[in-house]
Amino acid sequence: AVAIRTMGLGKSYGAGETRIDALADVSVDFGRARFTAIMGPSGSGKSTLLHCLAGLDRPTSGQVMLGDVELSSLGEKALTHLRRDRVGFVFQAFNLVPTLTALENITLPLDLAGRKPDAEWLDKVITTIGLRDRLSHKPSELSGGQQQRVACARALASRPDVVFADEPTGNLDSRSSADVLGFLHHSVREFGQTVVMVTHDPTAAAYADRVLFLADGRLRSELLDPTAESVL
Ligand code: ADP
Ligand code: ADP
Repeated sequence: AVAIRTMGLGKSYGAGETRIDALADVSVDFGRARFTAIMGPSGSGKSTLLHCLAGLDRPTSGQVMLGDVELSSLGEKALTHLRRDRVGFVFQAFNLVPTLTALENITLPLDLAGRKPDAEWLDKVITTIGLRDRLSHKPSELSGGQQQRVACARALASRPDVVFADEPTGNLDSRSSADVLGFLHHSVREFGQTVVMVTHDPTAAAYADRVLFLADGRLRSELLDPTAESVL
């Protein structure tokens, strides 16, 4: 099954001689319960693609289907609801609220949406992320790797259809990176989540099922079953 499909996706900034085509004619499927990495040089359109897939950016042309919903058919309010209920995000900067505990950070999106967590699901996520003894700690009392694991648990708390990760290991040492990537990998294999991750790091991309390579806003190639060596 397909979780996300793009058709002729394009995104341009500016107009006339200064126009930049950040994305051009990108048509690609992201399978359900698959882990996809997006790679490419700086400025190749990776973040723009991720933002269009997640409904954070409006494309200039083409379509994004998230499940059976075509994103451009949605108004701002419906798009906000979709992002809140069906999508999770992990960023390079962990973006935790410093005054809240780890557990409060994890459930914050649900609290803001006025939704009750699915206790069994949340328990499973917290067990897997391995933070049970850190749940009452504030972010400042956690290591960078632990903070990013909290951010991952937060992204998964609502059991979203898709988790988008933008350089999730960009600020982490290799040990913490392995923890975070192992968790994302596990959430795909064991929980059936769909994960789309932008990364520069071949070691990180090697956790994915597939790597898409962008250059100049276009899809150039893809690699199935990557290893760190094959990505390099
Ligand atoms: P990447 O994530 O691969 O580094 P981006 O998606 O951030 O690439 O950027 C793709 C291209 O679009 C770049 O040329 C960038 O300068 C341009 N771009 C991105 N965002 C904007 C913006 N808000 N305004 C103008 N140009 C932008
Ligand atoms: P676990 O305790 O589940 O083995 P790991 O974080 O060690 O947790 O690995 C989770 C999964 O990620 C492994 O089953 C493996 O398929 C994949 N994996 C682990 N290390 C790497 C690596 N260096 N490159 C690619 N995939 C890896």
